[in-house]
Amino acid sequence: MAWDAQTDVLVVGGGGGGLVAALAARESGAEVALVEKHDRLGGNTALSSGSVPGAGSRFQQAAGVEDSADRMALDIMRQTDGTAPEHLVRALARESGPLVEWMVDHLNVPLSFVPDLKKVGHSVPRTHGPMGRQGATVVAALEQQARDNGILVSPGNPVRRLLQNSAGGIAGAVIENGGTEHRIGARKVILATNGFGANKKMLRDYIPEIAEAPYFGHQGNMGEGIIWGLELGARLRDMGAYQGHASVSHPQGALMTWSAIERGGFLVNLEAERFVDESLGYSGCTSAVRAQTEHMAFVVFDDRVHHYLEPKAQDYRDIVAYGGARRGAEIEALGAACGLDGRSLGETLARYNSAAGGAADPFGRKDFGGAPLRPPFTLVKVTAGLFHTQGGLDVNANAQPLRDDGTAIENLYAVGGTAVGVSGADGNKGYCSANGLLAALGLGRIAGRHAGRTL
Ligand SMILES: Cc1cc2nc3c(=O)[nH]c(=O)nc-3n(C[C@H](O)[C@H](O)[C@H](O)COP(=O)(O)OP(=O)(O)OC[C@H]3O[C@@H](n4cnc5c(N)ncnc54)[C@H](O)[C@@H]3O)c2cc1C
Repeated sequence: MAWDAQTDVLVVGGGGGGLVAALAARESGAEVALVEKHDRLGGNTALSSGSVPGAGSRFQQAAGVEDSADRMALDIMRQTDGTAPEHLVRALARESGPLVEWMVDHLNVPLSFVPDLKKVGHSVPRTHGPMGRQGATVVAALEQQARDNGILVSPGNPVRRLLQNSAGGIAGAVIENGGTEHRIGARKVILATNGFGANKKMLRDYIPEIAEAPYFGHQGNMGEGIIWGLELGARLRDMGAYQGHASVSHPQGALMTWSAIERGGFLVNLEAERFVDESLGYSGCTSAVRAQTEHMAFVVFDDRVHHYLEPKAQDYRDIVAYGGARRGAEIEALGAACGLDGRSLGETLARYNSAAGGAADPFGRKDFGGAPLRPPFTLVKVTAGLFHTQGGLDVNANAQPLRDDGTAIENLYAVGGTAVGVSGADGNKGYCSANGLLAALGLGRIAGRHAGRTL
């Protein structure tokens, strides 16, 4: 075949999964090029909170938390009722601690252990994140490393299709630049184009329950990697699974961190009533918020939570700055100021506080964080929507897509949202906090290392 350019490893997609895959392949000695459809790197990863689980990392150990890959794998399998692909769960749980250490020690990514929260689905605290909880910090550090390490980073170059050799293996890809197509030869191609959150048609086909909800992720995620895989005969897995989020501030559109709930807050609908066991988590509560009047709710919490979040979460500071967090000493007046029936809100708060104090909770919540809540209070109006899809190309433990007969497609890898995730077979309830970046960065490292070592 005639090529316009050639490389050892071609990475398609410049989010977290693609950047880590490129760096891992480069570390193994490969010549690497990364192409990104948009004019800047980042994808969903830059929009995320940058939280990464790391079971058994030395940072977690230094904080005195006992953990292991086995424990993390058990947690994920429990959260997904045993439906997540176990070979990936085990591979990613094993990878997670070393991944976090490698990112800090070798890639200068400023992650630190967040000891004070267990997070949804995790039996011990194991999340590591950047200051300010912004994924853009992680992307900036990875992009710098990629450029410093001689990886050819090319934004503004969408891949249009993959190219095969005469034996059916992958031999490269066609990219488009300025209206002209170029054929890039590659010995290995790593698909890191995320899932299909921005593709309404695919959402209607595979996850109709969330297809009409707002999508808060990156618009580049049109599912191309999954479509190319299908064209090559790859099999799909868990296409109905997704991560939703039940608390995106309205109308600001900023992430209202679930830490507010975990530290004692609760949700009410526009009728000022509770409607769900909030311990289902931010993804698990998505459908419940979607089912409420106008698809809206309020997060209610007190000043201890407010003062905890303010210094830590840039998104929360943004909500406060744009007037999205209404505070007041008197719950009835505060409710009325937010358009709720103040008296009903007062009664709901009293019932919630009594459940937090030991009475049976009609919704079954058991962990109430720092509640009972006490004045002054804060209310933030929120809505629910889709963050990213969790189904994709079925891959083996080396991140290689599989055909129906179980054989791997030669020279091809899929990571992050392009591959099947570890959030179970269906719906939004299997998502453990930070499963998204686990699959992106963890599989990215596995794929890049394998591609680099098997050239
Ligand atoms: C608001 C928000 C907060 C989140 N917070 C967290 C969190 O704290 N922890 C966590 O684990 N997960 C979180 N997630 C989920 C997480 O962001 C994703 O799971 C993860 O970033 C996926 O990484 P990725 O590399 O697979 O995809 P992305 O980061 O989305 O990167 C994919 C890239 O591929 C590019 N691309 C697509 N098609 C092509 C093409 N044809 N050619 C070239 N390039 C292409 C896209 O433009 C994009 O830049 C969050 C998501 C959202 C929306």
